[in-house]
Amino acid sequence: MPSEFDLIRQYFTRPTPSAILGVGDDAALLRVSPGMELAVSVDMLVAGRHFGEADGPGTVGHKSLAVNLSDMAAMGATPRWATLALALPSADEKWLRGFASGFFGLAGKFGVELIGGDTTRGPLNICVQIMGEVPPGQALRRDGARPGDEIWVSGTLGNAALALAHYQRRVELEHREAAAMLPFLHLPQPRVAAGIALRGIATAAIDISDGLLADLGHILEQSGVGAEIHFEHLPLHEVVRRHIQDEVARNCVLAGGDDYELCFAAPADRHETILDLARQLELPLTCIGRMTSEAGLRLLREGEIMEVGAKGFDHFAA
Ligand code: ADP
Ligand code: MG
Repeated sequence: MPSEFDLIRQYFTRPTPSAILGVGDDAALLRVSPGMELAVSVDMLVAGRHFGEADGPGTVGHKSLAVNLSDMAAMGATPRWATLALALPSADEKWLRGFASGFFGLAGKFGVELIGGDTTRGPLNICVQIMGEVPPGQALRRDGARPGDEIWVSGTLGNAALALAHYQRRVELEHREAAAMLPFLHLPQPRVAAGIALRGIATAAIDISDGLLADLGHILEQSGVGAEIHFEHLPLHEVVRRHIQDEVARNCVLAGGDDYELCFAAPADRHETILDLARQLELPLTCIGRMTSEAGLRLLREGEIMEVGAKGFDHFAA
């Protein structure tokens, strides 16, 4: 049986050139770039709730870091370091190898270094903390949206939730359709470059982890504004579009979780700048509506207003 320390050495100790001290001491030592603010966030993934038995360890490793990188993206922060607290039922080395490969694969892509953590025996539970940097005053907060700002989203909406609905047999996708949706559920791509590019442009931002309506709702609440969004303008993958007459698919788009796209507000006079940005980033950025001084979230579909207040979130809950 490998010891706890063998496991840490073998699977979680990698070079950390940007830290003064990484894994191996009682604490890591970091030097934040001069003048930068530190953005810190933590997310816990619980087996059976955030991922299932069927999910491979590589997927779980990827996702546990991806959800945290998405929080950095939503803040406009450059991710730098992560810590990993892991409870494992057993020292399953095959699982650990897969997990580490998913985790470090994504970490390498974004220049994130794992600088510490904790490893203990217990029901499978994964807690990743991430630290990033953002220039003073430039973080994309939830409370900066103003009436008249346009509302934008990155990528397409509802893909991950539609994949999940398919596996839960709430919707029936063709084999090819399911294969196209699955990567959105298992390998979300955090929009870090977009978040950084939106510094100084977006007035507020959030990542869509709980569904568009709920997450946009947080911006509205914290900014003290309302919003009007157009169902027809929501960016949809062709597979989702094909099933949009199905209420399940519609709920995936409006209230499905796990998209990890960005939803942000920006002054209307930045419209062209944002479209240019989308081309540079090779990432669709779509204007879906605007902020209003009138409170509440109004969803318009084919000219009809659908009230989606606090109760609406429950109603749409997938
Ligand atoms: P302590 O007893 O001081 O908490 P630990 O024995 O828990 O130290 O950890 C030893 C070292 O290994 C520490 O530097 C810790 O940050 C690191 N570490 C433990 N588990 C992990 C992990 N899963 N990933 C990365 N680093 C880890
Ligand atoms: Mg410890």
